[in-house]
Formats: sequence, structure tokens, C-alpha cells
Amino acid sequence: MPKRTVRDLDVRGKKVLVRVDFNVPQTKSGDVADDRRIRAALPTLNDVLSRGGSLILVSHLGRPSGDPAADAPFRMDPVAARLAELIGRSVKKTDDTVGPQAQAACANLAPGEIVVLENVRFNKGEKKGDPAFAKQMAALADAYVNDAFGTCHRDEASMVAVPEQFPAARRAIGFLVEKELQILDTLLSHPKSPYLAVMGGAKVSDKILVIESLLLKVDKLLIGGAMTYTFLKAQGHSVGQSKVEADKLDVARHVLQLAGAKLVLPVDHLVASQPEAGAATKVVEGPTIPDGWFGMDIGPQTIELYSGIIRDAGTVVWNGPMGKFEVAAFATGTKAIAQALADSHGVTAVGGGESAEAVEKFGLADKVSHVSTGGGAFLESLEGKSFNSLKVIPDR
Ligand code: ADP
Ligand code: MG
Repeated sequence: MPKRTVRDLDVRGKKVLVRVDFNVPQTKSGDVADDRRIRAALPTLNDVLSRGGSLILVSHLGRPSGDPAADAPFRMDPVAARLAELIGRSVKKTDDTVGPQAQAACANLAPGEIVVLENVRFNKGEKKGDPAFAKQMAALADAYVNDAFGTCHRDEASMVAVPEQFPAARRAIGFLVEKELQILDTLLSHPKSPYLAVMGGAKVSDKILVIESLLLKVDKLLIGGAMTYTFLKAQGHSVGQSKVEADKLDVARHVLQLAGAKLVLPVDHLVASQPEAGAATKVVEGPTIPDGWFGMDIGPQTIELYSGIIRDAGTVVWNGPMGKFEVAAFATGTKAIAQALADSHGVTAVGGGESAEAVEKFGLADKVSHVSTGGGAFLESLEGKSFNSLKVIPDR
């Protein structure tokens, strides 16, 4: 059943508390390095404003330690400033989350106005899911909207205890969460076949539950990235100096057995003398990495093989870069796979922190069906987990 969305809320003259995910990457000085998550919330925010509501926005940012001096870079001021630019309205920022300043700013809020509260994780009650803290926050507003997909897998106060303070009819999800849930529903329950998963990234161990869950659903699972070498090693091949999780060989063997012919490993590799820019590189065919060399990317034949399979797929879910794409010399495979998704006529979804970053970096984010704003939340959803933050939002 679809959830109640912001569309279903009567917001005219109402103060709407929106839990956004403004946990943006920051520069060393605390400025916004990438505003994708702020832009992703704009449809919900503009909807409330255009229908005569006002906005109280709350988010966490980074991992504050609790020491106010050390936590200065985690204040929400640069985020509020960037939001004001993007939304084209003035934005008021309070220096507390539920204290006197926030209470005064919210009490005087008129339709069309926006308040950004201070980083919610500055309050100990947030992580603990403290009901007293939740009561204080809920008292600021008339209705609650969850548009923080990237935080939906967390049971923190602003995600669960705060919406519980509102009558069910005044709780809803925003358009971003709605879109993320729609694509997940396609991936989990209604994929068009052939259904393909492409998995890469750093470690098998991070992705084992996702792999096991997807194996039950997909027609094929293409493997790339550093996890390749743990699988190859588990098959008994030598992998040179490549990254291997030596203590996960049993797990890798179990997955290989479970997957059978569904699982496809790279047929060639780009290897380097060192895992860094400027190193000597060459392409090696077959499953063996020569002694002293590091497997850094999928090779050209693998790119061709995988791109063909992706182009013919009805649904593709991709998580995990195909190589160490942060170094230009090792980015070819990741870029080619991103391009193949972009060229595909099927439903194409990308999730995971670095995977999303890669697709953005190559300018292909608008060419795939969906780039998830949630790393952990996206992967846990694919594992089949359900979240308390969404259970508290009623169905339509
Ligand atoms: P995501 O955040 O998309 O879920 P991961 O966190 O699993 O992805 O992995 C991303 C990281 O894996 C990237 O930073 C990339 O540099 C690294 N990586 C991928 N392939 C290799 C490789 N062959 N050798 C070293 N690092 C790799
Ligand atoms: Mg990552």
C-alpha cells in the first residue's frame, strides 16, 4: 500500500515540520560541497509553500562529537544559505533545535516562510529517540513530513518518536521518499525482465546480504570492483596484490555456490604496479592476476560483455563502482557501465554513496531512471528490511 504523501495533507496556514536529509558532503571549512540532497527536497518544500503552508526543516549533518567548539563545522548555517539560493526565498536559521530561539521563530512563522533548525544531532535526545525531546520538537509544528530517505533506516527521534507525536492524519512522506519507495517497489516486487544486478565496490562483506537477497530475484548478477578478487581467490586463482578479504573466502564460496551460472565475474582486468595514479598499467585476460600487480578495474572485454547485457535488460540495479574510479586511470570501467545504464531502455537504478557519486561525476545522473539519495537506506531496503520511520506513516 502506498503511504500518505504531502499531497494528502491540508497545509494551508499550517506549519509543516519536514525531516529532510541535508547531511551533505562538506568542505574542510564546513561549506556545502555537493547540494544534491538539498535539491532533491525542493519538490516537497515548494509544494508546501505554494499551497500556503510554512516550513520548519530539521536534519542532521555529519557526526558531531558533543563538544560545541569542535562541532562548529556541523552547524546548519551553510546549508540554510545554500537552500535560500536554491529555493529563491529567505531562510531563517536558528542556533538551537527545540530551545527558546526555535520556539520563537516557529511561533511567529507566517505562510511562505522557512525556518531551518540547528543540527538535530547536537541534542543527545535525537540518537536516543527520547520521547521528551520528540514532544518538544513536535510542539513546534502542525504536521510532519518525512522526506529524509537517506536516514530512513535509523530509529532516531526525528525519524520515529517525533512523527508519533502527531495524529496519524497529520503524518506523511514527501515526494523524494515517495520516489525512492516507488523505485524500490519495482526492484523488489515488480521488475521487468530480464532483471540484472551489477555489484562492485570495496568489500563482499558489506554487500553479502544484498547479494543474497538479489540472487533470489535477478536473472544475472554481474560482479566488478575489488570484491572480484575475493571471489577469484575463493575459486582458487591467484590475485597478485589485489584487495582481498582473506577472512571472507568461505562467504564468497557460499555465494558462488548459491548463485551458480547467475553470477558473472570479469573476464579481464586492468592491473597496476601500484594502486595509485601514475603507476604502470596493463590489461590481463583470464582469472589470474600476476604476482606483484594490483587489480584496479574491469578490462575492455568485460566492459563489452557487461555493457551488452545491461543494454538488453528490462531492469538494472547497480551498486558499487567497477574499479577505483577516484583515480582517472582506473575509472574507465565504472564510466562505461554508467554509460551502458544511461543507454539502456530499461528501468535503471543506482544506489550507494560512491556509486551515486560516480554517476554524478560522469554527468549521467539524469540519464538513468533513478539515483538513490540513500546509501545505507537503499542497501538495507534491497536486503528486504523494513523501517520504523516508515511504519509510523499511515497508508493512503
Ligand atoms: P558504494 O558506496 O557505492 O556502496 P562501496 O563503498 O562498496 O560503494 O565501494 C566504493 C569504493 O570501492 C570506491 O571508493 C572505490 O575506490 C573502491 N574500489 C572499487 N574497486 C576497487 C579496486 N579494484 N581496488 C581498490 N578499490 C576499489
Ligand atoms: Mg561506500
